[in-house]
Amino acid sequence: MFSRVLVANRGEIAVRVIRALHELGVEAVAIYSTADKDALHVRMADHAVHIGPPSAAESYLRIPSVIAAANTTGCEAVHPGYGFLAENPAFVEACVDNDLVFVGPPADVMAMMGDKISAKQAMRAADVPTVPGTEGATTAEAARAAAEEIGFPVLLKATAGGGGKGMRLVRAAEELDDAFSMAANEADAAFGDSTMYVEKALVPARHVEIQVICDNHGNVLTLGERECSIQRRHQKLIEESPSAALTPEAREAMETAAERACRAVGYRNAGTFEFLLGPDGSFYFIELNARLQVEHPVTEMCTGIDIVREQLLVAAGERLSVTGRAPRRGHSIEIRLNAEDPEHDFRPSPGLVSLFKPAEGPGVRVDTFIESGTVIPPFYDSMIAKLVVWDNDRAAAIARAERALRETTVAGVPTTRDLALEVLASEPFRSGDYSTSTLDALRAVDERRLDGAGVQR
Ligand code: ADP
Repeated sequence: MFSRVLVANRGEIAVRVIRALHELGVEAVAIYSTADKDALHVRMADHAVHIGPPSAAESYLRIPSVIAAANTTGCEAVHPGYGFLAENPAFVEACVDNDLVFVGPPADVMAMMGDKISAKQAMRAADVPTVPGTEGATTAEAARAAAEEIGFPVLLKATAGGGGKGMRLVRAAEELDDAFSMAANEADAAFGDSTMYVEKALVPARHVEIQVICDNHGNVLTLGERECSIQRRHQKLIEESPSAALTPEAREAMETAAERACRAVGYRNAGTFEFLLGPDGSFYFIELNARLQVEHPVTEMCTGIDIVREQLLVAAGERLSVTGRAPRRGHSIEIRLNAEDPEHDFRPSPGLVSLFKPAEGPGVRVDTFIESGTVIPPFYDSMIAKLVVWDNDRAAAIARAERALRETTVAGVPTTRDLALEVLASEPFRSGDYSTSTLDALRAVDERRLDGAGVQR
């Protein structure tokens, strides 16, 4: 095992990784921007290196500064968390060039998966079903022809896309040109790459993903699914495992496909295969996230496997102690608490958290970086905490999630807490019969009700 590891991130995920390092007896080195000088991850780490001003482009995203922080503190490895440089192949190469072990897949595999077009090609070659659509870079004209052929609605997607950016749903031919140029411009601004392709929009569909971990010796472990269909603007809000939509046979088919794909592409370390699941039980690959994911604790709760610890162990060259299908038990739900204002269309609302009292008690886990008195900086992600619960079955887990949410106090900034309570109480969520369109549909009903009642908003 390593003796010292750089944590190339901030916020709750930096705290999460530091915990895993400390449990393994490894020293953690934090990096921080000026805006994070008092942050929890900095205080928890054994050493901390200031790497630049608040803007992420000048700090957490600046490869030479992050590499220098690792080198000058004598680190042997780098854990990237998620976001920032976690899926940047140039960063992986920079680590390797500096004799630093990158805790994640090799640069070439990451590059192949980071480009959604080449990722889909690799999956097709591995006999994993993909969403019908164009098979390479697509012009607006070709997109129109393809849409006529596969039928509306279609989704325009940026090959470099992520976080729902560069994606547009197109319901009819006359909307296509405008949507195409908007999505391409958005992709160019966000990723410096405006390459687009077209997919059939599967609606209604569920977003179900499979967690995998692979070691450097050809062993693969699949850890079951996470159901992530509760989304706002393609951003996940509530995740759970197991998914109410999967039969044991369907689950095994997805895990087998993921395992086959891992072997075909030479995958290493932790990764997540995202699939869309149609109402008829058919599933289609949409992307492979070549990194740790926000919602990984849901899987940890059900399998008892610490995914971050396993990432560090396999990065250090150890063999997986369990392979095949990870045993699992019970039901877990994660709620993302974002500092966003429900009164203003959920715009990010950073600021001073005057009081934070997380839920406690049986079956509750809170991953966060905030405390009473924390100032949430405006420069980064708006997610401030993840509330994760576990119980024997789904009904008990929902009751526990509701109890824990009510126990959670965040004062000073508005949050998505009440929205989550509303979703948990809703009929579609309780029945388990929901899709990626459910949250928007619930909110539309809400808005009509408020308008009808003459309530001012
Ligand atoms: P990103 O990388 O931007 O997160 P993804 O490809 O992972 O984009 O898709 C994000 C979400 O968008 C999915 O969870 C799903 O809700 C929706 N989505 C993606 N592809 C399709 C599709 N072909 N049909 C319907 N919905 C889709």
